[in-house]
Amino acid sequence: MRPQRVWRRRGPSGCPECGGLLLYDRDTKTYTCQSCGRVYTREELAEARRRIAEEIKQAIAQETGEEREQYYREYLKWYLSGEKER
Ligand SMILES: [Zn+2]
Repeated sequence: MRPQRVWRRRGPSGCPECGGLLLYDRDTKTYTCQSCGRVYTREELAEARRRIAEEIKQAIAQETGEEREQYYREYLKWYLSGEKER
């Protein structure tokens, strides 16, 4: 799979499963996906993001040549955009 497909499908701040919008519930301190209904704690969300980041890095490692640099820059942008929203 092309690396950029992995992150376009699942944005850094969206649901790790489907990329849907996550709503935070202050009372239960959990995030609920508006698309697939999955519920995440803050820790589960952080763990899921690490897994996706790892998946992307592996996909990039399989690329060769100039594209690989390009993908890596896009990946960093993706990753940092998620950090900012937190
Ligand atoms: Zn979802």
